[in-house]
Amino acid sequence: MEILLAESAGFCFGVKRAMQMAYQTLEEAGKENKGRVYSLGPIVHNPQVVSKLEEMGISVIQDLDDADSGYMIVRTHGIAPEKREEILKRGFKIIDATCPLVRKIHNIVQKFEKDGYRIVVIGHKDHPEVKGILGHSNRKAHVVESAEELKEIPGNEKIGVVVQTTERLENFRKISLALSEMYDCSISNTICYATGERQKAASELAKVVDIMIVVGGKNSSNTARLVEICKETGTVTSHVETAKELKKSWFKDATKAGITAGASTPDWIIHEVIQWLEKLDSGRNKTGNTRKKKHS
Ligand code: SF4
Repeated sequence: MEILLAESAGFCFGVKRAMQMAYQTLEEAGKENKGRVYSLGPIVHNPQVVSKLEEMGISVIQDLDDADSGYMIVRTHGIAPEKREEILKRGFKIIDATCPLVRKIHNIVQKFEKDGYRIVVIGHKDHPEVKGILGHSNRKAHVVESAEELKEIPGNEKIGVVVQTTERLENFRKISLALSEMYDCSISNTICYATGERQKAASELAKVVDIMIVVGGKNSSNTARLVEICKETGTVTSHVETAKELKKSWFKDATKAGITAGASTPDWIIHEVIQWLEKLDSGRNKTGNTRKKKHS
């Protein structure tokens, strides 16, 4: 069986940066003996990474009441300005791991706001990144997940549009086209390049393999998009968080297996999946003709 890894898969630069900041904070907190290190929500949407960080000393909290003073890591998704003020008021030292690409959206929204635009965010209402973006808008903002929801937006104002960094490009295109037909719009494509690259590579790979394995947190938005994209190619696709969830029966007739991974999936989990497949294949084929390579 040929094992192909998508050309672009796994940790993106924003997550790598956040992890590095988390390790540095642990070191600093240890040196200064300044007590606990917290993160407001999981640093990344990957339970295995979060539990490793917890073992190292980072406590994930959902509510500021659950923490004493210490370091508070703001994750890649960013937060609303009022939340930042509240954290500071409570005496925490903020370690801001907001991805620069998310911060860019905050700046765009604030500029729209200043110029009198009504804000539309294309994305998922309950996602923390979207909540943080909304927090940067004082005027009434709208979050839309589909073109059908656009009729709720009043038609007499200029509309400033941004999109969640992990949204699907197709969905963004569809909604922004509908928006521009209905309103006077200024549209910013704020889907991050890492998301775009991973989606493109996953789709290309899914078209040439018999089965796709998408590795990533079940709570990860960008991983969920990769699953959708792979399934749409018609190729059998399974979503796993770790190698433990893989089943031999999935690969019974496969001659080519493809692997991709969300932006919050670490290399060690991807390697475990590859090793599991190599082991399965060497058991099936004693001549050992497994070929693992990057798909390009
Ligand atoms: S997926 Fe994109 S926006 Fe999100 S953390 Fe990674 S690089 Fe930043």
